[in-house]
Amino acid sequence: MGQATRTTKLLLDLDKRNQGGANTAKRAALDATVEILNAARAFYIDFFLAHAEKLAERVSYYSEKQLEMRTRAISAHELLTWAEGCTVATREHPHPWEGWNFTEVFPDMPFVYRRSAIKDAIGKVRSYLSHRANWNKSGKHKGEPGRPGATDHPTLYQGTCTLHLESADVKSRFVQLKVYDGKEWSWVNYPVQCNRYFEQRHHDEAWEHKSPILIVRPHEVALHFPQTKEVEAKKVKESKLDPALVTVAVDLNVKNLAVITVRQRERIIETVFVTDHGLDAHRYQHLKRIAKKQWQSGKPIKGEHSNQELWRHIDHLNEDAAHKVARSIANVCTRYPGCVLLFERLRKIKAKGGSKSRRLNRKRANHLRGKINQFAREKAFATCATCTVEVNPHGTSQYCSRCGAKGERFSYRGGTRLIAKWGKLFFCPSCRYEANADFNASANVHHSFFHELHWQPRIMRSG
Ligand SMILES: [Zn+2]
Repeated sequence: MGQATRTTKLLLDLDKRNQGGANTAKRAALDATVEILNAARAFYIDFFLAHAEKLAERVSYYSEKQLEMRTRAISAHELLTWAEGCTVATREHPHPWEGWNFTEVFPDMPFVYRRSAIKDAIGKVRSYLSHRANWNKSGKHKGEPGRPGATDHPTLYQGTCTLHLESADVKSRFVQLKVYDGKEWSWVNYPVQCNRYFEQRHHDEAWEHKSPILIVRPHEVALHFPQTKEVEAKKVKESKLDPALVTVAVDLNVKNLAVITVRQRERIIETVFVTDHGLDAHRYQHLKRIAKKQWQSGKPIKGEHSNQELWRHIDHLNEDAAHKVARSIANVCTRYPGCVLLFERLRKIKAKGGSKSRRLNRKRANHLRGKINQFAREKAFATCATCTVEVNPHGTSQYCSRCGAKGERFSYRGGTRLIAKWGKLFFCPSCRYEANADFNASANVHHSFFHELHWQPRIMRSG
């Protein structure tokens, strides 16, 4: 049993008003809302840090199971009620604690937002305190955990956000948000860029909705809708006992983004090559331009980003490619129900050597592998309950997938064989096996999973 998660984005329309977008006052209200919520969060972070002993409190309760009184850590809900009692003026508690009068500092803030700020603060302070306790225990002098920051994307719990998407006219669909305009809290309608993709995912019965999160960025504002699904997956240990188990292995590379091989009963039954369609070269051209511009403009100014549009374009390229490759991996998994997805454990690779643009490009390529790994894992789990295993990557590209001997990589250059580490082909001197090097590596991932050939567990000698 596990839980799959996904996020669907709904962009707010911030184009010019005469083009159907929100006006600037509405845009400013969003910034003001985020700001005041950050301030509220900071207030409660200070409050909980000043009363840290309350977070460590144990409460006694009657256990139905053991039929006796027991103690447990105080729950987040109890902390919330306690914090509200101390800081908010109500009819029962007309006088909040001296210096902690929330109602006075933030008049008329909707209680839903206040509670969300308290919940965020509890989480942040709890994690900070436990990190600091661990740090104290470790006896290190460096790396003291810093105080928790208050900035975060606000979660829109029920009562602060209503979607109106029923209208047949796409232009008149909007979302109603409770926002702060600098003086008071009010409901404001924001036009949204609704599309069929969003609707389809939003109305998907299989996925459960969580509260949306408001993401305000300099150039775009979006609502992120997290959704979760309960997935029943078989344990890999149990699947491994099945002799007819299908394993899907993926080898991630730069030009061949993914080489997928499917194996059953010690035979490769399907191979899929996913190429990058020139993404690597395309990205390299952009990075070359960035490197040149940075060189021309000299020393960068601290706190300022250069070439923002270009960087954003490159990030989008990468993200998009990662999603597409991950989808094709998940599609292969869907064809073999009950299969296990195998990846090599990714190593930390530091890009070095070559020109600056080449290093930057390598860095992005390595980043892309990580993204593909992550997205493929999520998509395969959500669509066909496939579990992912990371295997030992040692020597997958150097050993022969047929006999297990150490081989070499080579390429043809003008008709002559050129033995090189970057060679596209693989040759085994022991059994004269020749194959595409990436395919050979992908086939070796299966061996690593089943501990065959070179990947047999080493016998530990004692004494
Ligand atoms: Zn061989």
